[in-house]
Amino acid sequence: MAAAKKAFQIRLPPLPSIKDVIKLYKLRALRELSQNFLMEPRLIDKIVNAAGNIENHIVCEVGPGPGGITRSIIQRGPRKVILIEKDRRFTPSLELIADACKDKVDVDIITGDILKTDIAQYIPEDAKTDWLDSPPPVNLIGNLPFSVSTILLIRWLEMISKQEGPWAFGRTRMTLTFQKEVAERMAARILSDQRCRLSVMCQNWCNVNYKFDISGAAFLPKPDVDVGVVTLTPLKHPIIKLPFKMVEKVVRQIFSMRQKYSIRGAQTLFPEEVREEMALRMYKMAEIDPVTRPFQIANMEFARICHAYNEIIKEYPEFEHYDYRAQKVGKKVVEQEV
Ligand code: SAM
Repeated sequence: MAAAKKAFQIRLPPLPSIKDVIKLYKLRALRELSQNFLMEPRLIDKIVNAAGNIENHIVCEVGPGPGGITRSIIQRGPRKVILIEKDRRFTPSLELIADACKDKVDVDIITGDILKTDIAQYIPEDAKTDWLDSPPPVNLIGNLPFSVSTILLIRWLEMISKQEGPWAFGRTRMTLTFQKEVAERMAARILSDQRCRLSVMCQNWCNVNYKFDISGAAFLPKPDVDVGVVTLTPLKHPIIKLPFKMVEKVVRQIFSMRQKYSIRGAQTLFPEEVREEMALRMYKMAEIDPVTRPFQIANMEFARICHAYNEIIKEYPEFEHYDYRAQKVGKKVVEQEV
């Protein structure tokens, strides 16, 4: 019987522990940068393992901090590691790691804001694969700062929809942490209490896999919430094949009155004078019962509603830019975001 293939490992020379690195460089965690460091090697390895085989891959890590996850990534023999960290206090500890593996792995340390960084410029062109092929040897990994995780996710979903940035290289996979509640919403299926706009948006462009939870107690300092680890693999074909902004608008308005009949939210897609008539027409075209509540609508049914909306917009282009929220400026609109 053939022996099981041993996982490839790069052995790093002895380095101070992450705890010692934090002490050595006096890296007091900054709340404004959502700094919660994961201290336990077993959990760090579990996150990196969730990304699958990354040997010879190009791995971009968001917010490496003192470098606990970075070390685990490097031990798995990637071809290149791109580190994007906003806080320059971490540069010396990341340079220490880069130096320790300099003959084996190419490490780029970028001091900058992930929301303003064009990751694609650091990915070698030869990593490109066709969108319909298996995912490319490119991975995004990160114990994300809570303060930017949802906005980053929405931004990345839009890039996925346009096959831009890291997704110009194919269906680049992501292994990311979120507040547990956000991770649950991302993965929530029809009828779940957690089902919301974010569920439909994530699942429209990606296969969302909720991997496991990490207790807040595993972080230093301990955040008020637990964390969920999620992998996202872009779908070959989205469920709703329409522009991102249009899908986002329809889904957002439908979920804006979460506890009411979904047609109530759908009506807000149209100006007041035609609201009831147009929403009813849209629901008829989509064959959706108007008394269905938002969380009872399946992804495929959202697809039918979005396509019906698109047909109405073709007939009445003036409705396309109608913005209910803008109309309500000055009045109190409580809107359930994500
Ligand atoms: N990876 C480390 C770990 O797991 O222990 C640190 C994770 S900590 C939750 C989030 C990291 O993201 C911090 O190092 C923080 O400085 C960094 N960060 C916060 N906002 C950022 C941004 N906009 N762009 C890049 N990095 C950011």
